[in-house]
Amino acid sequence: MKHLLILFIFLITSSLSAFAGDSLNIINKKVSFGFAPNSNRNVSAVIVHSTFNNSGGDKYDIDLVIKQFSTYGVSAHYVIGRDGTVYQLVDEKDNSYHAGKSSLPDGTTNVNSCSIGIELMTSYTESPTEEQNKALLNLINSIKKRYSIKYVLRHSDIAPVRKTDPWNFDWEAFKKRLEEKGK
Ligand SMILES: [Zn+2]
Repeated sequence: MKHLLILFIFLITSSLSAFAGDSLNIINKKVSFGFAPNSNRNVSAVIVHSTFNNSGGDKYDIDLVIKQFSTYGVSAHYVIGRDGTVYQLVDEKDNSYHAGKSSLPDGTTNVNSCSIGIELMTSYTESPTEEQNKALLNLINSIKKRYSIKYVLRHSDIAPVRKTDPWNFDWEAFKKRLEEKGK
């Protein structure tokens, strides 16, 4: 009986922690700029970026990052904060202006029209936190449930001459974790 009770407690706690590990804390920060409405798009790619506020003040303040986006007329569907909080700026059905002039490995050039853009808040010298890595894994896995995703790529993969982000990010290790989690 005692063993059964221990097993029961173990099962409850492990399922709870599994749930906590997979949960996504998404905060609505929808913007009115930096995207084009599109009710009929085919999402086939996820593009990962880096960003931070370099206009003064807290470099990782989400509102300052959004203000900076508005200045440039750009956006992303999601921004992931240092603590793993996911902010949604644009509906997944709309074209967010995050990719710029770029192309997918299959030659598709209008990448904004077929991709979801995710920004990790990191600077040129700091790496993503483990909370950010976990949130990114969970977010991409949830996107994969909604769309048939052919590519998960870095901004630097689709615009190698112009872009170097995401910065300080062990991409190969991340892709490995993504493959393991997808099974
Ligand atoms: Zn980028």
